[in-house]
Amino acid sequence: MNRLAALFLIPTVCLNAADFLQNRAPLAPNSFQTLRLTTVKPRGWLLNELKLQANGLSGHLDEFWPDLGPNSGWLGGTGESWERGPYFLDGLVPLAFLTENPVLIAKVKKWLNWTLDHQTPEGWIGPTKNQDWWPNFVMLKVLTQYEEATADPRVIPLMTKYFAYQAAHLDERPLKEWAVYRWQDEVMSILWLYNRTGDPALLNLAHKLHTQGKDWNAQAANFPYKDKVTGPEANLNSHGVNNAQALKAAAVWSLVTNSDADRAAIYQMFRVLDEYHRLPNGMFSADEHFAGLDPSQGTELCTVVEAMFSLETDLAITGDASFGDRLEKIAYNALPATITEDFWAHQYDQQPNQVMCSLSKRDWSTNGPESNIFGLEPNFGCCTANMHQGWPKLAASLWMATSSGGLAAIVYAPSEVTTTLNHTPIKIEEETDYPFRDKIKLVLHPAHPLTFPLKLRIPAWAVAAHLLVNGTEQPTPQAGTFVELNRVWNPGDTVTLQLPMSVRATEWFHNSVAIERGPLVYSLKINQSWRQEKQTGPSKDWEIFPTTPWNYALLIDPKNAAPSFKVVESSIQNQPFSFSAPPVTLVAQGRRVPEWQLENDSAGPLPASPMRCKKTPCSQQTETVELIPYGAAKLRITAFPYFEQ
Ligand SMILES: [Zn+2]
Repeated sequence: MNRLAALFLIPTVCLNAADFLQNRAPLAPNSFQTLRLTTVKPRGWLLNELKLQANGLSGHLDEFWPDLGPNSGWLGGTGESWERGPYFLDGLVPLAFLTENPVLIAKVKKWLNWTLDHQTPEGWIGPTKNQDWWPNFVMLKVLTQYEEATADPRVIPLMTKYFAYQAAHLDERPLKEWAVYRWQDEVMSILWLYNRTGDPALLNLAHKLHTQGKDWNAQAANFPYKDKVTGPEANLNSHGVNNAQALKAAAVWSLVTNSDADRAAIYQMFRVLDEYHRLPNGMFSADEHFAGLDPSQGTELCTVVEAMFSLETDLAITGDASFGDRLEKIAYNALPATITEDFWAHQYDQQPNQVMCSLSKRDWSTNGPESNIFGLEPNFGCCTANMHQGWPKLAASLWMATSSGGLAAIVYAPSEVTTTLNHTPIKIEEETDYPFRDKIKLVLHPAHPLTFPLKLRIPAWAVAAHLLVNGTEQPTPQAGTFVELNRVWNPGDTVTLQLPMSVRATEWFHNSVAIERGPLVYSLKINQSWRQEKQTGPSKDWEIFPTTPWNYALLIDPKNAAPSFKVVESSIQNQPFSFSAPPVTLVAQGRRVPEWQLENDSAGPLPASPMRCKKTPCSQQTETVELIPYGAAKLRITAFPYFEQ
């Protein structure tokens, strides 16, 4: 078994293909080129996170969940033959190769071999029982990642034949239902192949998908969903996952058109979602459909991981640092918050103000009573299959290549990037406990002295950052941009970046405040009682009830919040998003707000701020409150009312 396992690893270390490709004409250039999967390796806490994932649902789901069992249509069986197999693999492929886990790599090969060995003579891929183009969109994403990790020579011919088949059949069998809304995901795979083969027919196919697909630019330009969507108004246009995937539609299409209108449309979509549906965890509300600005509304886990993948794509195409800030906010808050620390259970919907996770009919747009409990497949099993891509794709996207022949640090996390620049091998080690600490140290190891630009993202919140090269302070980098260091790099050179993380208050629904420090959002620590609801194989479903009060307002000056908080740093656990031992705690003063109570088992309407005491002195006494990272707080208040201090 061990020898066999070792054999599986060989392709990951023997590749000599380029680690990145520029777009082929007539496509517009990317600002940054994504790196071939496995060029970036997670380290430190991020590798631990991936290992926890591998030891939890991601590594074991197929062993007991029938939809991924041996009867899956994607393994030649008669069972589930739609999106669940490809969804699972979209996360399992990068997880397996980034953790270099031989058991998971063997699983990946079993699944991929079936698809690679069973293309029909006409060119169809996957189960013939499925006649929907949509799940194949996902399988194509899986195949591109697999080819990058293994250089399997079967992938490119299979994709070439499939796209020719699709081009010949799209007129008689056009996109329908989900595929209409998600065309850009297939266009990405078409462009991936075009950059490798240069077949102009692929661009014709991309145009055909665009023509049959949803016009997301038009929806953002004249956005109809300005409130919570319920009832008959709810359809695939207002659907959270569709919109999360569409956050990359204009960017992907701008590569084909090279049009300023498409580039502007990228921002228009973020603008309207922010204006009508933004939440303090970095996401927009979508408890199936758009749900407005109230922090007791929810966001589906599929929407979280698809928004992350869209942001990784937008950042590569545009080079805009603000997409990195947004990506970190989602990845370091919304993602860990909605999955248990051991990765054995997840929610369908998370709420920024989430004071009870229980079977109850909440005020979702259209979701059911299981939606905020933690379990195997609460509400619906799509997230159970799709959630696995979140951490691994983030890890693979931490570094990208620049168009000017250098490297860019896109998102910060402990990692290592190994590639070749100008025919010279180079490795960069990124040593950091970011986002829990503010220092990032890069150690460069070019094979010999090498001149290239190194770009570093400076988050918009990192005002007055310190940047040192070999201990020598550099000019203060501008927040909200990529700073470029273009020089001769010698083996062992170091770059140190300190990103000052002062506590800040940001403004949300009903003039409430969210407390942020660096990329982390902080939430009220509410003690919890977990009650097991049911068990399926090794996976348990849980309700969580509060055992301490949650209805607090903070005492702060929102314009100058930092002096109101004491920052307490503690050691970083194997799972850093730990409730019992969080790496950072903020201590502040607060007051109970007795009239703020449960409504339909969620925190009721937020009292308007600033709050005023009804008499002097206030009848509610001042208490010390603790805030912990949002990702560690399964119960929490995140949008707080406040008394002005
Ligand atoms: Zn889902």
